Amino acid sequence: MCNLKKESLNGEVKKSLGWIPFNGQTIKVIDDIVKYDGVKFRFWKHREIIGNIKTGSFCQDSRGRWYVNFQCEVTDKRPHGERKIGIDLGLKDKAICSDGIKYDRENLTKKYAERLAKYQRAHKKKQVKSLHAKIKNKRKDFSHKVSNHICSTSEIVFVGDVSASKLAKTKMAKSVYDAGWSQLTTMLQYKAIRHGMVVKKVSEKWSTQTCSYCGVIPESAPKGISGLGVRNWKCSDCGTEHDRDINAARNIFNFGAGHCTPTGSLSLQ
Ligand SMILES: [Zn+2]
Repeated sequence: MCNLKKESLNGEVKKSLGWIPFNGQTIKVIDDIVKYDGVKFRFWKHREIIGNIKTGSFCQDSRGRWYVNFQCEVTDKRPHGERKIGIDLGLKDKAICSDGIKYDRENLTKKYAERLAKYQRAHKKKQVKSLHAKIKNKRKDFSHKVSNHICSTSEIVFVGDVSASKLAKTKMAKSVYDAGWSQLTTMLQYKAIRHGMVVKKVSEKWSTQTCSYCGVIPESAPKGISGLGVRNWKCSDCGTEHDRDINAARNIFNFGAGHCTPTGSLSLQ
């Protein structure tokens, strides 16, 4: 390894620090030994080498100690967890998972409605615009946090499609219901690739009425407009008691995994 000597103006000999760059193909690393130009050097490996070594260098600090640096190419794979879940995107601000975990979204439209109306009345265009931007950013931030959590903790995820069937029973506009949920679904889908896990959209039709335990649509299932307020119900066929939302999420998982397709009375349509 070369140390170049330089003579400064006052005659002092200064050594410039050694630096030997290399190509990844010209070296070999086995455990804590690096082989370069036919010579083996033992080094202290302070962390595991992940990926392919592309380039690197031997370099020296001012105290004459030598270091070896590696630049590695790693694939952008992130870890995923073991949850296998279905997710029901609720009418309001809850995303409910079949394993019981719920993600609550702040109702931003409601939170800022008053302030927004005030600005609009006063024709404060600039403030209206910035408040809209704030709501949009907060919503996006929520989608990022939730999708990150789901993708890093799960292996298989089935997410209910944002269906019109739920909306047909309410006065809510699709744009209101959809705001954020399609964003979340899109994020889940592209982050799934990064985490090496699976996210699939499945039809959520019948997910509310079907008993996730026995797979039928029993007489006691919540139906129509009157059924919207039902939080808990008991299957009249098998006697299983259900939390409405978790049952829907379990059905979405079952539909996606092909465990069962809803059967029973079609007169519910
Ligand atoms: Zn049942």
